[in-house]
Amino acid sequence: MPSSLRVMKFGGTSVGDADCVRRAAAIVQSAAAQGPVVVVVSAMSGVTNRLIQAAHRAEAGEQEFLPAMLDELFRQHATALKALVHDPQRHAEISAACQRVAEELDRLLRGTSLLRELTPRALDAISGIGERLSAPLVAGAICELGLRSVAVSATEIIVTDPYYGRAEPMMIPTRERAEARLRPLLNQGIVPVVTGFIAATPEGVQTTLGRGGSDYSATILGAALDAQETVIWTDVDGVKTADPRLVPDARTLPEISYNEAAELAYFGAKVLHPNTLRPVTAAGVPVWIRNSFAPEKPGTKITAKGTPSGAGVKALTAIRDVTLVTVGGPGIVGLTDVLARSFAATSETRTNVFLVSQSSSQNDICFVISSADEKRALKALRDAFAPEIAKQTVEHVSANPDVAIVAVVGEKMRGIPGVAGRTFGALGREGVNIIAIAQGSSEYNISLVIEAGSTQRALTALHKEFHLHEATLPVADNSSSQSAEEAHLKGRLM
Ligand code: ADP
Ligand code: ASP
Ligand code: MG
Repeated sequence: MPSSLRVMKFGGTSVGDADCVRRAAAIVQSAAAQGPVVVVVSAMSGVTNRLIQAAHRAEAGEQEFLPAMLDELFRQHATALKALVHDPQRHAEISAACQRVAEELDRLLRGTSLLRELTPRALDAISGIGERLSAPLVAGAICELGLRSVAVSATEIIVTDPYYGRAEPMMIPTRERAEARLRPLLNQGIVPVVTGFIAATPEGVQTTLGRGGSDYSATILGAALDAQETVIWTDVDGVKTADPRLVPDARTLPEISYNEAAELAYFGAKVLHPNTLRPVTAAGVPVWIRNSFAPEKPGTKITAKGTPSGAGVKALTAIRDVTLVTVGGPGIVGLTDVLARSFAATSETRTNVFLVSQSSSQNDICFVISSADEKRALKALRDAFAPEIAKQTVEHVSANPDVAIVAVVGEKMRGIPGVAGRTFGALGREGVNIIAIAQGSSEYNISLVIEAGSTQRALTALHKEFHLHEATLPVADNSSSQSAEEAHLKGRLM
């Protein structure tokens, strides 16, 4: 019998204050009337950034800022709690739980400040505090609507490797724990509210799945529990033809394929964590992106096939926090293993390499990495080439952070000639300087390295060139995520 379970993830803005949490709880209530629901929540918006900032201040030895910072964080959650939860006992329990988490944060930051050292493991413990504060709040708000709901820490369920800051799940133990911890709750009609973003090693040490990782938490749990679908509730109507903050006339795509969504996410579309589709692709389970501020809208359905769009090009994306690394020098030509050694160094440091290019003179190779990985990657590369640097066979391992990658994405692009030509033509007319180019063998994307300052101009020109603002796109088969729930919500929330 197909499962009727749905996993629903609410992002930071969707739980940003008491009104948002109330809206999220109403969405859960109407979904729960249709079948079992597991909720996954992010930290309230802005909280994770503040925690990471605090961790770095503590690493620099600062402590004076701590009381005010902790007070503000606690107060933000207490204000929402007061507005949301009126049952006195429930209010007291959630408040005490938040207080304990805030005290733990205080100890973690003081320890960091005393040692003046911030290990990746400590940073994970600190940056994951926000989800531990928001989950009890959301569960409390759902209880207020007359449902039974409990907050569950993902450290009890999602098992990962110990790669702090960007851990990867181990699905077999995760499945076992999800069955053992969540299934009994679901069988009793209880809505579990699981902390997104965080997880734990087999030994129980807390990890995180990387920034924006709650999307990944949701599909990991969806796959572990064989859910019928995963719904990612966010602050936009779905996946758009470009980042709406950069291209205001970007349109919502009714349906796209796993490959297209993965490519967009990988090349910087913040709406999805890059690994989100991995756990659900093999089983073909749909993922929806929907707007928690406009639940009457259908959103974007992500499926195995997607729907073709006439233009071939489906969407554009850009990543700005990237660095162009160059390994160069006259002796590079004679070094047959320069690529292998470079990538051994980047893979050892789990650096995200977005794109690789080699100049025809073979005097240098360059690749684009995530700026967050720059420090670790450069050190590993300089260590790897230390003998050649000493002999000046390799002259430099250098980094240019003022670049961006723009990617043109579409599964059906390969059948349509001239996409590359039109891309270069449009950018040429706009005077955008192209530093490097790559086309994946999958042909789902063409990606270009440009100067960071030209990003918006490049996106606007390409959006126009491929008529993405006016594409007439077919409407997705919305048989599952919508249904009676929709009508119910319309009545409640409009
Ligand atoms: P959440 O807190 O719900 O996880 P995020 O801020 O992580 O939300 O992701 C949603 C944001 O992603 C949107 O507000 C939008 O600005 C940005 N975004 C970037 N590219 C796209 C795109 N192609 N389609 C939709 N949103 C995008
Ligand atoms: N709160 C985490 C972050 O800001 C995870 C998430 O929002 O998905 O990165
Ligand atoms: Mg996000």
